[in-house]
Amino acid sequence: MTICGDLNCSLCCHEREVILTHEDINRLLTMGHYEQTFSRTSGHGHNLKELIFIDGSCIFLNNGSCSVYQNRPTSCRIFPFTMIDGKETIDRDCPHCSRFESDQVFISNGKEGLQRIIKDIQGTIASSNEREKASSL
Ligand code: SF4
Ligand code: SF4
Repeated sequence: MTICGDLNCSLCCHEREVILTHEDINRLLTMGHYEQTFSRTSGHGHNLKELIFIDGSCIFLNNGSCSVYQNRPTSCRIFPFTMIDGKETIDRDCPHCSRFESDQVFISNGKEGLQRIIKDIQGTIASSNEREKASSL
C-alpha cells in the first residue's frame, strides 16, 4: 500500500496542473487511451501538454482512485516533490507532506523524476522555437 492509499487521500488529483512528458503520454497510449481524451495544450504555450481536469478533478480519477495508477504521469508519481518558483521543494498543499519529507528514497526518486520532466519540457520548448523560427523565414 502507498502512503496515499493508506490515508485514502486523492487531494492532489484535484485542482492541479499536471504537465505531461512524451514518456507520460506514450505510457497512457499503451493503455488504449486516445491522447485527445486526456491531454490538452498547456496555457504555458510552446506546444506543452497537460492532463485534462474537468470541474477540478483529473480525468483519470475514478471514485477517489487513479484509474491509470501503474502508468500515471511522472508529476503524479513524484508529488508532493515538485518545483515551485524554480526550486525543488515539497508541496505543502499535501496534508501529509511531512511523511514524504522524511523518506530519502522518495526524495531521491522525486529529484530524478523532476529532472526527466525538466529535460522533456526543455526539449519540447526547443523544438517549438525551432519550428517558429523556420516558419518565420
Ligand atoms: S501526495 Fe499528498 S495530497 Fe496527494 S494523494 Fe498523497 S497524501 Fe494526498
Ligand atoms: S493521473 Fe492519477 S494520480 Fe495523476 S492526477 Fe490523475 S488521478 Fe491523480
